[in-house]
Amino acid sequence: MEHIYQSYTANASAKLNIAEYFSQYQGANEQLRTTIPMSKEKLAELYESISIDQLGIEEESAVTGHRRVTPKLEAKKITNDTNLQTLAKLKDKYMDYLPKVFRPSLKYQSELIVNYNDPITSGAKAVPGKDLIIFLRVYDPFDYFKKEHPQRRQRISLMHVIGVLGCQTLADLRDKIHCISDTSVTLESSNNPHEYTEVSNKELYKSSFFYIENTFYNDMRDPQNHDNSLPIREWAEKRNLGPFKTEKMEDVRIDSLVVKFGYPWVYQHQGNCEHLIVFSDARFVARDDDLAIANYPRVYRAKPSKQPSCMICERIVQWITFDSDRVPHDSFFFCDKCFLSFNYKDNKKIGNFKAYRYPYDTELMKKVHNCLKENK
Ligand SMILES: [Zn+2]
Ligand SMILES: [Zn+2]
Repeated sequence: MEHIYQSYTANASAKLNIAEYFSQYQGANEQLRTTIPMSKEKLAELYESISIDQLGIEEESAVTGHRRVTPKLEAKKITNDTNLQTLAKLKDKYMDYLPKVFRPSLKYQSELIVNYNDPITSGAKAVPGKDLIIFLRVYDPFDYFKKEHPQRRQRISLMHVIGVLGCQTLADLRDKIHCISDTSVTLESSNNPHEYTEVSNKELYKSSFFYIENTFYNDMRDPQNHDNSLPIREWAEKRNLGPFKTEKMEDVRIDSLVVKFGYPWVYQHQGNCEHLIVFSDARFVARDDDLAIANYPRVYRAKPSKQPSCMICERIVQWITFDSDRVPHDSFFFCDKCFLSFNYKDNKKIGNFKAYRYPYDTELMKKVHNCLKENK
């Protein structure tokens, strides 16, 4: 398949087996853990000599950790009599900013750091310098072309950045990917809106696969799951594409994979919900990481998805109706209160419509909101 998607290879790493690649650094880590044959005084001297403070100069202002730069103040710091063209140009640049609104870097602004206030502390622990943590970027599903603008490609939007331990499986990773089509409820409930079902699509339709390096990794944990890669493989065979292999995702450790970092692979679930996934980084677990294995895989960063509001009162949407003869839109969003008061009288349905509970990943959004509150 790589010959078809060659352009992506330019930004990707070489193909590597994650565990094998890092095994060559295991020895170095062991050496770091051994006692350094040096007296305490000599060691203190060594630390002093390599301290980051050695890089500072007396006139330099202290690093405050505040990333926002005020151009007016920055411009003042540069004297007018400088002979250095770089400083003169920088001063001009800051002066140019003055009449405008200066914005800090937009990088990562739309990705929110997810805080876990009550992490699990018991159970097995990862070993710093030995266990691996691998980061994956999972993207929202997208249409290649937008219907309303067929000439314009749709931008790919990040959903989560997930950290998974090398010893964990692709099935562990799959369980951590929160997608709205998993939390949807496909049960039509207009005749019994009070009978809430906790069974979401994720419980009903458990089949899914990852496609990585010519192999389909199927979720076969439930005996009723299907091999959703079969029709794709049959389609490909007729077009002389492949060959492709299949494996069970629950049997495959993440660090046993052979991947190209930066290359887009696919996660597919609910039959047709396709996400691009990219292995973006990998490193040894460090001492200041959360070491309890039960806290992994974990979502490190998330992009909040747009939540439509109730089309009557703008509260959080809990219902969506279709084919209603009493509202102006075919898909109409309601909060619980408006849904019940508008569509029912004396507990009886008014008119014709289909109603579905609208999904909302409360757990994940609670964590995002906690983080927003703390950063205010
Ligand atoms: Zn999905
Ligand atoms: Zn409402």
